[in-house]
Amino acid sequence: MEDLPSEYRDTAKNVWNEFLRCRNDAEALWAHVRPPELRFYTHGAAAGMYHRRTRKVSINVGLMRKGGAEAIANTVSHEYAHAVAETLELGTGHGLLWKKVHRALGGSGNRCHTISTEGVKARRTRKYYWITKSGREVPMGAIQHKRALRGTVYRVCDTGENLVEFTGKHELS
Ligand SMILES: [Zn+2]
Repeated sequence: MEDLPSEYRDTAKNVWNEFLRCRNDAEALWAHVRPPELRFYTHGAAAGMYHRRTRKVSINVGLMRKGGAEAIANTVSHEYAHAVAETLELGTGHGLLWKKVHRALGGSGNRCHTISTEGVKARRTRKYYWITKSGREVPMGAIQHKRALRGTVYRVCDTGENLVEFTGKHELS
């Protein structure tokens, strides 16, 4: 949290409190589920993500700052529910069992956020386009792109599909 720009710190604190609330609820409901770690990022249109190999929940505090308390509650519980569902072997997507976990953690059970991404501060960065099995193109940042090339498997949060291949396409955005 200390290395975040100061304008995001209040939001990051609220995200952290919500994360602790989810952690307490999860410990009460599923005592054997090891808690994930929490990370923050500030740019882009994805509200959050869960990285299963490192068990990290990452939350976009730029979008959370715009979306407020409701967005924070729904996004943190969304990503936390992925960590719980995976540990309980309930699957990796947004199926019925994941929805149950999300609701048990106080979320809506919906998979997509409804925060406007209009005017979201974005650096001019290079995007690398990967493709899912069903043919959907997904832009990745340079760090994720490099990790994916080295074998890290990323999942698209709103459909639960894995990114399978780099298309070769990249551009400044
Ligand atoms: Zn998701």
